[in-house]
Amino acid sequence: MTDSTPPAPSLPPSLPGSSWPALQPGWVWLCGAGPGDPGLLTLHALNALRQADVVVYDALVQSAILEWAPQAEHIYAGKRGGKPSARQSDISLHLVDLARAGKRVLRLKGGDPFVFGRGGEEAQTLIQHGVNVRIIPGISAGIGGLAYAGIPVTHRDVNQSVTFVTGHDQSGEAPGSLNWRAIAEGAQVLVIYMGMKHARRIADALMEAGRPADEPAAVVCNATTPEQQVLETTLSRLADDIDASDMKPPAILCIGRSVLMRQVLDWQALAAGESPRDLDPLGRGRPAEVS
Ligand code: SAH
Repeated sequence: MTDSTPPAPSLPPSLPGSSWPALQPGWVWLCGAGPGDPGLLTLHALNALRQADVVVYDALVQSAILEWAPQAEHIYAGKRGGKPSARQSDISLHLVDLARAGKRVLRLKGGDPFVFGRGGEEAQTLIQHGVNVRIIPGISAGIGGLAYAGIPVTHRDVNQSVTFVTGHDQSGEAPGSLNWRAIAEGAQVLVIYMGMKHARRIADALMEAGRPADEPAAVVCNATTPEQQVLETTLSRLADDIDASDMKPPAILCIGRSVLMRQVLDWQALAAGESPRDLDPLGRGRPAEVS
């Protein structure tokens, strides 16, 4: 956290009274860990961390979260930015082997396991091999990470839809398969995962397809962690400003007028004693509670 909240003790918190499901031997729970801040785990995730024999985790899972499963073996299965590392099939089949060995397996993935996280493929492999699974959703970086930056993914004065896009395809290249013209024309607010590497190509494609050069854009890297950094810019300056910054993946790009709301909603800056930059950044001219 970058606000003044005192750090929480890293003891496994207890769960509120309820009948929590048991992680049975031979099962795999495929679970989202949220974007970073351990406080954004779900209670089901915590319940899983307390029971697992093995936690197979991704690069984006914070170590503070793994500390909540001290009894478990921790196995890293990360891959970053298209680098050759553990192959997806190897990871999925390793999960099958662990389950068949009778382990209580927690597969922990950053954000939500079914949002650009190959969770669907892993779950499918497990089920194809007869392994029992439970899916535990998580807070996705494209929603929760932007919220920590003070950017609401929807706002009644800006958008009635939001478009989530990946800036990489399976080969690690910009998704040539995407119809950027259709996205530019149809997306009110765009939230781009894995978009840092190809930010220039993406921004150029959007402007070529008619998005205004001065459209507000933001980059949020390491969202919800103590290393969170936020860049506010415009579509035409996006790539140069990224190059001039020291920002690195993981980062979410957001393109659309909702970025302007950060001028009033940057709650971490407010908590640090700053004043809102503009109480009415969308220029409604009337209080927010008046529709
Ligand atoms: N399943 C994840 C997304 C995995 S793809 C989710 O739902 O959030 C990996 C991409 O997610 C990164 O390249 C980045 O675009 C985004 N991401 C994940 N964690 C992030 C964080 N803490 N800050 C910014 N972006 C993040």
